[in-house]
Amino acid sequence: MKTFEELGVAANIRKAIEEMGYENPMPVQEEVIPYLLGETTDIIALAQTGTGKTAAFGLPVLQQINVKENVPQALILCPTRELCLQIAGDLADYSKYIDNLRVLPVYGGSSIESQIKSLKRGVQIIVATPGRLIDLINRRTVDLNNVKYVVLDEADEMLNMGFTESIDEILSKVPAERKMLLFSATMPKEIAKITKKYMQSPKEITIGRKNEGSNNVKHVYYMVHAKDKYLALKRIADFYPNIYGIVFCRTRRETQEIADKLIQDGYNADSLHGDLSQAQRDYVMQKFRIHNIQLLVATDVAARGLDVDSLTHVINYGLPDDIESYTHRSGRTGRAGKTGTSIAIVHVKEKGKIREIEKIINKKFEQGVIPTGEAICEKQLFSLVDRIEKVKVNEDEISNILPSVYRKLDWLEKEDIIKRVVALEFNRLIDYYRDAQEIESPSDRYAREESYPRRKDRERSDRSSGGSRGAERGYSRLFINIGRTDNVNPATLMGLVNDFVPEKVNIGRIDIMQNFSFFEVPEKDAQKVISSMSRQEQNGRRISVEVAQGGGGGERGGNRERGGFNSQRSDRDRGPKRNSDYKSSSRSSKPSEKSGHRKGGSGRRPKFS
Ligand code: AMP
Repeated sequence: MKTFEELGVAANIRKAIEEMGYENPMPVQEEVIPYLLGETTDIIALAQTGTGKTAAFGLPVLQQINVKENVPQALILCPTRELCLQIAGDLADYSKYIDNLRVLPVYGGSSIESQIKSLKRGVQIIVATPGRLIDLINRRTVDLNNVKYVVLDEADEMLNMGFTESIDEILSKVPAERKMLLFSATMPKEIAKITKKYMQSPKEITIGRKNEGSNNVKHVYYMVHAKDKYLALKRIADFYPNIYGIVFCRTRRETQEIADKLIQDGYNADSLHGDLSQAQRDYVMQKFRIHNIQLLVATDVAARGLDVDSLTHVINYGLPDDIESYTHRSGRTGRAGKTGTSIAIVHVKEKGKIREIEKIINKKFEQGVIPTGEAICEKQLFSLVDRIEKVKVNEDEISNILPSVYRKLDWLEKEDIIKRVVALEFNRLIDYYRDAQEIESPSDRYAREESYPRRKDRERSDRSSGGSRGAERGYSRLFINIGRTDNVNPATLMGLVNDFVPEKVNIGRIDIMQNFSFFEVPEKDAQKVISSMSRQEQNGRRISVEVAQGGGGGERGGNRERGGFNSQRSDRDRGPKRNSDYKSSSRSSKPSEKSGHRKGGSGRRPKFS
């Protein structure tokens, strides 16, 4: 198997997709990318949804856009509004590190005026449903004369939906020497006609549904103290606003307890276990199937009767006693060509089981870092912004009320209105996470240290004494809450200071300890370093820098312990109520909305024009 680099994908795109978790190309990408980047042949690819086709055409097309020319250079046609938004969102994600690249989704059911405005501002890639594009062509608001790439995605669906004539018309408007790529799950005669008429000696690629089942599942474990398991579950659920998954528990009692807690905390959850009557179980399963429930807390046995293909996540609230069951649990996601994630929330003693499971599934687990409150808020916020962008506005139904709404809000600027909408939805969440303790993930090393208290005590006393030494003359000794456990060495530490502190700062002595470190900076720079570095993140962990106790340069209450070491939890740790105040619209949405928008909440704001 080749890497993305070997396929010729540029570094700035690789950086973006790596951040999205794309490690290796999927088969369709391996086949299509080199062709689009190199040869001039047209391509017909027989591929199902979920095989990674968006990146297959998206990456090479993005790479070949000339951002200096503000005209449409690529046209992607697809059958539905949902797919259109999904593709445009994916392209925006892939092009996160390409400056000045503009992608515009063009689809019916939303304001044509704003699409025209964006077209006038200039876009390089248009992702369109055929009907709306024809409308724009007829209004002479779109110029396809510079289009070099045309992609027909889900071509068979477009034909089924009666778009044959529209496609004909659109293709007659693009230059003859463009490169054309057609994706279809099937190859009916009509497709053959199109290919014959518009493609020149196309190369045919067939991608089977090879990536079904466990190959499509990513396995992640989060290691937490046993007492933090529920808090970790909530954070994970909060971090994936569009999560649709099963939380597996070991016993009926635990299942009911966790479901009750989630419901109490405002999550859209319910329980499924053998203590319920058949009628109750059928009812819960039906609610889950139609996405009225986002999190189904279930025992292994009870969940067997449930056949759902579109789970985004399976969460193991602790690992099953019988390790084989893990395979069945995780196999419930990543089905029907979709990708999914199987998460295990484990405590230190279960680490060995993770290794045993890895042998059985022949795949490695990633170790996840429990998302920080800040990361969750950001993710939720962008999910909201995304929903605002994509919501279908029913113009007719609200047209009567709108004038009085406009009048009432007339005194507010657009920016103020946005701030208020966001505040309405987010104040509670932000309030909760602002003061919530971060959850400590006990690393292996820490786990070992727990059984060697002498070493840990020594570090603690080191820490409170600033590492048993004072700073050099004229320098302040600073404490930072990351150490060897976080893969920090003197070079990375210096790199962090350089990255986060705007001006150049001399760095004196550095002492890297197991769970934290000390470093010295000139006294005059100490406060600047502290304020520039604090609240930044390293590998998902919030950095905290303060003057080391006894380290010169004055004291700043330097002996607070890292969150997870502290057994005293604030009241707030019982959780933010995830109630209708800020959740309802995403939680109770219809299945089509859910599946169509799953990727929309990626936390990155699409760079739509
Ligand atoms: P698509 O067929 O384009 O809808 O892609 C199906 C799913 O696979 C999407 O969730 C993509 O984000 C994901 N995906 C695409 N390419 C890769 C890759 N190389 N590695 C991991 N996931 C991928």
